[in-house]
Amino acid sequence: EVALTVPDKQVDSVCPYCGVGCQMTYNVKDNKILFVEGRDGPANHGRLCVKGRYGFDYAHHPHRLTVPLIRRADAPKSGDFTMDPTRVMDVFREATWEEALEYAGGKLAEIRDNFGKKALAGFGSAKGSNEEAYLFQKLVRVGFGSNNVDHCTRLCHASSVVALLEGIGSGAVSNPVMDVTKAEVVIVIGANPTVNHPVAATWIKNAVANGTKLIVMDPRRSDLARHAHRFMQFKPDTDVAMLNAMMHVIVEEGLVDKDFIESRTIGFDELRANVAEYTPEKMAPICGIDAETLRYVARLYATSKGSMILWGMGVSQHVHGTDNARCLIALSLMTGQIGRPGTGLHPLRGQNNVQGASDAGLIPMMYPDYQHVSDEKARAGFEKHWKLAPGTLDANPGLTVVEIMDAIDAGTVRGMYIMGENPAMSDPDANHARAALASLDHLVVQDIFLTETAYLADVILPATAFAEKTGTFTNTDRLVQMGRQAIDPPGQAKPDLWIIQEIARRMGLDWQYKHVSEVFDEMRHAMPSIAGITWDRLERDNAVMYPCRKEGDPGEAVVFVEDFPRESGRARFVPADVIPAAERPDTEYPMVLITGRQLEHWHTGSMTRRASMLDALEPDPVALVHPLDLDELGGKPGDVITIESRRGRITLYARADAGSPRGAIFVPFCYYEAAINRLTNAALDPFAKIPEFKYCAIKVSVGGE
Ligand code: SF4
Repeated sequence: EVALTVPDKQVDSVCPYCGVGCQMTYNVKDNKILFVEGRDGPANHGRLCVKGRYGFDYAHHPHRLTVPLIRRADAPKSGDFTMDPTRVMDVFREATWEEALEYAGGKLAEIRDNFGKKALAGFGSAKGSNEEAYLFQKLVRVGFGSNNVDHCTRLCHASSVVALLEGIGSGAVSNPVMDVTKAEVVIVIGANPTVNHPVAATWIKNAVANGTKLIVMDPRRSDLARHAHRFMQFKPDTDVAMLNAMMHVIVEEGLVDKDFIESRTIGFDELRANVAEYTPEKMAPICGIDAETLRYVARLYATSKGSMILWGMGVSQHVHGTDNARCLIALSLMTGQIGRPGTGLHPLRGQNNVQGASDAGLIPMMYPDYQHVSDEKARAGFEKHWKLAPGTLDANPGLTVVEIMDAIDAGTVRGMYIMGENPAMSDPDANHARAALASLDHLVVQDIFLTETAYLADVILPATAFAEKTGTFTNTDRLVQMGRQAIDPPGQAKPDLWIIQEIARRMGLDWQYKHVSEVFDEMRHAMPSIAGITWDRLERDNAVMYPCRKEGDPGEAVVFVEDFPRESGRARFVPADVIPAAERPDTEYPMVLITGRQLEHWHTGSMTRRASMLDALEPDPVALVHPLDLDELGGKPGDVITIESRRGRITLYARADAGSPRGAIFVPFCYYEAAINRLTNAALDPFAKIPEFKYCAIKVSVGGE
């Protein structure tokens, strides 16, 4: 006999995972999510990937934090992280909310008062809502008193944003993903959308089926390459050489859009002079793509009626990530492939709300809407908006993610508040990051699970999962969408907005936001780009695309149609030269490590590894190795291998992958048992301070430790 479980309510929301921002409906019975269905949202039209469809039951996992926890006085901040709840209680004891908040906020205030405003720092989260991001950065700027606030955008697209702001005056995408269906040519570079943006990948495949020519450029051959008109498997770390060679061809063969360059850009002469030396013939042996293919693809991109570029972390996570993005921007500007449907630049945003969290000012150098903290007018505006005395806000940019870890080492940062991020797993050189976090005088972590970071905390504040709260989330297309509460939080877990306000109160601030809509309303009055979006409209329409400056504006899908948001309205070419990776292979560490994500798991795995269906699909840590490399190492698929860099060592299973380049190994960063970021290099791009997750030197051996 089969008992049919019928939902007692349906709640329309959005997916909590990637930046595609698929709309979906939670089907709930007795405060439990039974299943999820896709909805007809602008980005997905009913489609969902495996994560969106099956990755929801983490919210009901027995590991959920349900009570505030305080570290036991005799528990050292060392030892390996454990998921075993019985061992957790050896390290922490339960506390009341009042005790936990007094300790958490009181001690942060004490550090600020004794050691100065720069002794504190905060990491917010791209997983939280726009309102949470906004309130968190406001707390750091007003309550802590500095701009030491950052989040994982620093680890993903910071370099893209720096290049975009510098070149075209806006860090967001110029065209939505769906525009691939209007393009004649689509370049996907340094991205693996079938894994990381799966529903976006389906639109790309649909476009190909309708005649769009897809060019995939990547050191790793992904599934999407099967649909490509040309697949260019360039050597890791040679993006600038390859892209400059393409630009050389476009200049040499007179394929530039002269009218566009003259009327809408500056700096072309410097760009042209810079690419003169980068002939395809010279660059071919460097990047591993033959000169004829470089010429063919350059012509195809330049001469089509509409060419669009989408890119991911393969472009951004290098010490030359900003330069990589500068080249992509220059390609689009020199050919006039921007400002129309089916053209433009689209950095595929990773987290569900990394676009919104950045827009909301969760970055150390910018207030909401990318207004620089050193800009006197912007500072005065926020002092007025936040009812502060003139001169209150710090005019100096704060520290970025990796810089904060270094500042802890130096003793200048002594206390941290981390909301919904897991730097013990996600930071480069994670052994160093863990040691730094462990050495803090005071670490407050707010999360839904006891993450590897929370394991090092002095106080843990149990928060709400995505389906347990209402808020807005901005997807990769600049679409602000409504996420609605479907279930109640477990035990004593509390909404993040409530917790932030309670910490703020202990730091001397008296905030009285009664409803999330009040925070949104304050945001839109501080952010011209979303000024026209009202809470009522979001309730009614579920999604509005910005820029939307006045109430009633429909929102703009394609931007830069007439001009660019820079002084004089013109975009700027910024030339780039080849800069090698910070750590090249050598005789001791002869191979290259590339890190990234897997289809079934999300980032550091704290949610998806507790989603039963997803963890059943990919339960074990794996490294993808070219079969010939595996053979040369003396191993076979399924063997245990050990990977070691100058910073650490891990052991995991080998999986043969003919799409991997020879000499390079790919490892996802979601497995706590084999935390690959123990090995990655913390070398930073000088412009964006993004670490080089996509390249470091390793050695590999078959067998465990
Ligand atoms: Fe969620 Fe992204 Fe999958 Fe859509 S594509 S269901 S937003 S993970």
